[in-house]
Parts: sequence; C-alpha cells; structure tokens
Amino acid sequence: MKKIAVFCGSSLGFNEVYKNDAVKLGNYFAENNIGLVYGGGKIGMMGILADTIIEKKGEVIGVIPGLLKHAEVAHTNITEMIVTKTMSKRKVKISKLVDGYIALPGGFGTLDEIFEALTLNQLGIEQKPIGILNTNCFFNHLIKQLDVMVTEGYLKQSNKEMLIISDSIENLISKMFSYKAPEITKVINKVVS
Ligand code: AMP
Repeated sequence: MKKIAVFCGSSLGFNEVYKNDAVKLGNYFAENNIGLVYGGGKIGMMGILADTIIEKKGEVIGVIPGLLKHAEVAHTNITEMIVTKTMSKRKVKISKLVDGYIALPGGFGTLDEIFEALTLNQLGIEQKPIGILNTNCFFNHLIKQLDVMVTEGYLKQSNKEMLIISDSIENLISKMFSYKAPEITKVINKVVS
C-alpha cells in the first residue's frame, strides 16, 4: 500500500491516548514511506497526524472541499492540497488516490467516511482494506452494533469481516497488507463494471 486515507476527528478528544496514536500512526507512515491522504484540516486529530508526517519529511495530501478551504481549518503546510467542489467529490477523489483506509477515533465525519468505504467494498465497487484502530476500546460499542446488525439479519457476517480491527498500528497495517476481498464481492464487481 503506497497511500492510505486516514479518517479521524476534527477534534482532539479528551484522552491523550488518542492524540498519542495519531502521532504514532504519523511516524509509522513516514518511516515506512506510506503517503497520507486525508481531509486537509489542521485541527484536531487530523492536524496532529499531518504535522507529525510533515515533520518527518513524509508525504501528506489533503483533499478538501472549497467550502472548508476558506475557513480557518485548512492546513497550509502539507505536500499537496486538492480542492474539490463538493463533499461528495472529495470522497471520490480520495478513493481514487488510495490503496486502503484507516479510521482513528472521531465523530460523525469519521464514521460517515469509513462507512462509505465499507459500503463501496460491500457492493464490490472497491476491494480495498479498511481498518479501524481500536485504541482504548474506542470502537467497541460500534463493533457491538455491527454484531447486532448481523444477528438481526441486516449485515452479512462476511461483509462485517471486511472491517479489519486492531489496537496495534503494526498489527492493523500488517492485516491490511494481507487483506483478500471475499469472492462474492469480486463477482458483484464484474456485474457492476
Ligand atoms: P469528525 O469526525 O466529525 O470530527 O469529522 C472528521 C472527518 O470529516 C475528517 O476525516 C475529515 O475528512 C472531515 N472533516 C470534518 N471537519 C473537517 C474540517 N474542518 N476540515 C477538513 N475536513 C474535515
């Protein structure tokens, strides 16, 4: 994987442990020549992640909708900033640039982005690894909700397994490298394309 999209909070959260993981992930990307593609913000978890990589001379590509570019939130010191017309065009642009996706702790924006990636995989439109870094069990309740969806017949177990989960960066990325999309997804992809 040469480039990974990271979705994460525009806020920092209350517990230092999350910020520390944004720093650790940034260092991991820079040391392993993985380019970051992200929302282009300078605030919260996003800002910490981008700053860490830039400090280590790594690659950071921001993809930001024009609407946010003019606000005080856009990063001004990254490798490249791509400005899109709309939020939805931003998602398409990000998906064209990356080989996989990671979510760190965040709010609505983070969940929206990671679930859109999962939906694209579920439909076979994409077959990229999608991981969440479950620091401090942050995503445990979300994972539990996915189990409820499986039990109640709204989510296939095989589709749930598309979501790679770990609380260790090395383990998460190693699982992402060895990810194989389920066969059924590939069949649907042929029909769609
Ligand atoms: P949230 O998790 O609600 O804080 O939203 C964070 C996610 O939504 C990030 O991954 C960004 O791609 C996007 N996003 C939200 N707010 C901003 C912002 N101010 N600037 C750039 N991207 C943002």
